[in-house]
Amino acid sequence: MSTTTGRGVGDLADLVDRLASGPGREERLTHLEVLGPRAGESVDWPAWADPELVAAYVAAGVRRPWRHQASAAQAAHEGRHVVVATGTASGKSLAYQLPALSEIRRARGARGQRGATALYLAPTKALAQDQLQSLRGLGLDLRVSTHDGDSSRELRDWARDHAEYVLTNPDMLHRSLLPGHARWAAFWRSLRFVVVDECHHYRGVFGAHVSHVLRRLRRVCAAYGAHPTFVLASATVAEPEVAAHRLTGLDVLAVSDDASPRGRLALALWEPPFTSFTGENGAPVRRSAASETADLLADLVASDVRTLAFVRSRRGAEQVAASTAALLAEVDPALPGRVAAYRGGYLPEERRAIEADLRSGALAGLAATNALELGIDISGLDAVVMAGFPGTRAAMWQQVGRAGRGAGDALGVLVARDDPLDTYLVHHPEALIGLPVEASVFDPGNPYVLGPHLCAAAQEAPLTEADLPLFGPGARAVVDQLTAVGLLRRRPRGWFWTDRRRAADLADIRSSGGSPVQLVEGDTGRVVGTVDAAGAHSSAHPGAVYVHRGESWLVESLDLTENVAVIVRADPDYTTSAREITDIAVVAEREHRDWGGCRLALGEVDVRHQVVSFLKRRQPSGEVLAEEPLDLPERSLRTTAVWWTVPEAVLAESGLATADLPGAAHAAEHCSIGLLPLFATCDRWDIGGVSTALHPDTGTLTVFVYDGHPGGAGFAERGYAAARAWLTATRETITSCRCLEGCPSCIQSPKCGNQNNPLDKPGAAALLDLLLAGAPGE
Ligand SMILES: [Zn+2]
Ligand SMILES: [Zn+2]
Repeated sequence: MSTTTGRGVGDLADLVDRLASGPGREERLTHLEVLGPRAGESVDWPAWADPELVAAYVAAGVRRPWRHQASAAQAAHEGRHVVVATGTASGKSLAYQLPALSEIRRARGARGQRGATALYLAPTKALAQDQLQSLRGLGLDLRVSTHDGDSSRELRDWARDHAEYVLTNPDMLHRSLLPGHARWAAFWRSLRFVVVDECHHYRGVFGAHVSHVLRRLRRVCAAYGAHPTFVLASATVAEPEVAAHRLTGLDVLAVSDDASPRGRLALALWEPPFTSFTGENGAPVRRSAASETADLLADLVASDVRTLAFVRSRRGAEQVAASTAALLAEVDPALPGRVAAYRGGYLPEERRAIEADLRSGALAGLAATNALELGIDISGLDAVVMAGFPGTRAAMWQQVGRAGRGAGDALGVLVARDDPLDTYLVHHPEALIGLPVEASVFDPGNPYVLGPHLCAAAQEAPLTEADLPLFGPGARAVVDQLTAVGLLRRRPRGWFWTDRRRAADLADIRSSGGSPVQLVEGDTGRVVGTVDAAGAHSSAHPGAVYVHRGESWLVESLDLTENVAVIVRADPDYTTSAREITDIAVVAEREHRDWGGCRLALGEVDVRHQVVSFLKRRQPSGEVLAEEPLDLPERSLRTTAVWWTVPEAVLAESGLATADLPGAAHAAEHCSIGLLPLFATCDRWDIGGVSTALHPDTGTLTVFVYDGHPGGAGFAERGYAAARAWLTATRETITSCRCLEGCPSCIQSPKCGNQNNPLDKPGAAALLDLLLAGAPGE
């Protein structure tokens, strides 16, 4: 196998050596993993495939399908629900297009009338648009249309009456297609395939919502006598059949053996050094991932390695591009022109121009926001640098998967941010490599999510006893509750929605309950976005810097009675993080496990919390500029929590001084919140914690970690299920951090309402040792 295509990355080991041998860089490369190449395996086109469609694929350069594409397509053709879970660029779309388009063309009437239909769902409008382009690119006679918030009335009518392949999103299904199902009767009657693309995006509360939208879809189809085959596609998720079953409620076959070819891939893990800055309580602060990324990008561009750097915000991407250009100017005045920023907000033609420059080699380096992760056509790259872990292994592999031209070698570099999760990962490659990517965590049983969908379903057609199992074991209890409060009415034919409102309006599927806060541009009154009620106090308080699709905004005011925050476009040189104080009371313990004398529990809690201030940190240095007080009301939340207790008798034997216990528990809490996203596929801002040396409800030292969403999003459950691995990783992060008394990379938390005080680093490690000593082995 050739290791270079075009210039490629040349010798991988040599390249990484050069990156790591710069002055002062000895300790930054913490790990280098080289994954071997994989030869592709192609098979014959299935006999049932439409010959013109096959000819179109061949003309587009797909001579024969890879084995995984053919297996998934075969299953779907036979009417079996299937999930294709293979890597980026492995050609997942062929797996559903082949059976769906073949069937659409086969089923047409004698005069070409519509016979079979397919519905394609993407998490974003942009991805649906890309699919539309790729379908049109086949050059076949296909009636295909998007149906989204931007579609004109005429286009919608045409899609309903004539389109054979409709591309939309779960939001439109929820708000428009399902409530108005009667108008779409002909479409539903002939619906053969439902494609759920990029299904790993449906997680957390959003995942729970989408799972119920899909159940409503199945129910509406059944009412028209249709039982479509579901085809799901995703970057490799752990246990794809389990995730797909939870999402659709159907038994789904998984196809996860990727048979597409790949070159060698080197993944380098990179930890920025401590700087001379000091942070809160004198803690050392690491160099920012963005600054480090600019250095690496400059080195790669100077070596003519085509590289894409992923940065969180637009400002960050522009900063990285500018610093890279400045560094290159010192080397060669011709080089700065070969680097650019690439971000959301560009016009399509601007994007196409940048993509073309990258393909031609006129550009060698791009700094992009993560918002571009989906569906944008950047190919021909040799290397990807990530400024910070993108949240999940699935997202990381998707970003790394952008590198590699054909079977050429590729390089991925993960640069750690100054937080516990990134610190853990760059020192524990085994948590990144060789593992399936994380399961999509969500809880379809969440009554706060289920209720509004049962109302919407009842409005679509009265709910009967026979419908309830579709919505899960908790459905009956929720229906009874909705009936008791008068939202549903029981009649002989079932439960009816009799309210005048549109029931679908009760659920905002992108938010997690409560009325979302609208972010309104001060000058124009335009609604830029929304934040859900749970997150509004911490992300939309006055003075907050809010990043939306890579753009930075400054919040001027927050009106909690109108649920409106007024924002202005700004590019401040700092970021903000809200700090909150929390109180917790146990409502009911659901289950527990005894770990020696210690105890691990899962249950319902009442949380009272209040955002009390926010910190401003200069970017990119991370230096703390100021902490400003806020005057926001306390809020309460009934949710799910996982907690652990260490009784006094165990503490007494351990030699831990009583005075050190509050700092030890507090430090363990912070770090465990930082690490839970590795096990529960959540964001550290989705969860919160409380620690205390003596909690009134447990009578002993207790550390709680709770879901920040009403009713819980499944995160605490995952923490409970993976407690041993989670808390072991927490302990590892604390002991392996090279700071002396604690820093943002281990035990300091940006959202701590107690100024990260007290914190006791050795105490936290000792406390976790006590707890884990009683944990059963695996
Ligand atoms: Zn540290
Ligand atoms: Zn704290």
